[in-house]
Amino acid sequence: MAAPKSNSKKRKVTEEGRVFNPEWTRDYFFIEEQGKPVCLICKRGISVMKLNNITRHYNTSHRAEYRQLHGDARKQRIDKLMKTMKQQQECFFWPPAKDKPLLAKPYCLTKNCREMQTLF
Ligand SMILES: [Zn+2]
Repeated sequence: MAAPKSNSKKRKVTEEGRVFNPEWTRDYFFIEEQGKPVCLICKRGISVMKLNNITRHYNTSHRAEYRQLHGDARKQRIDKLMKTMKQQQECFFWPPAKDKPLLAKPYCLTKNCREMQTLF
């Protein structure tokens, strides 16, 4: 092969590390929302699709409470959280976290979901 590839030295930056892995839902209670990982438990979005960030969030915020959930119990909890999140998405607005990180909380846009507001 006499065809040297000039760009073979170029480090291949694959999207591998930046693609949501469906297993993160089961392992860390994260889902993908508009290209970003979002925690099902506290509904926080993480700006970078990185396993490191996700595990850090899970370990520091939720692991103590959720590590004993296995198998079906874990699945059921995830299902429930996903349903709740879907309902909330209908009336919550997420400001872009990068602009004002301190304000990166969901705001309720309707008045008739008092119950949800108390969650935050
Ligand atoms: Zn969380």
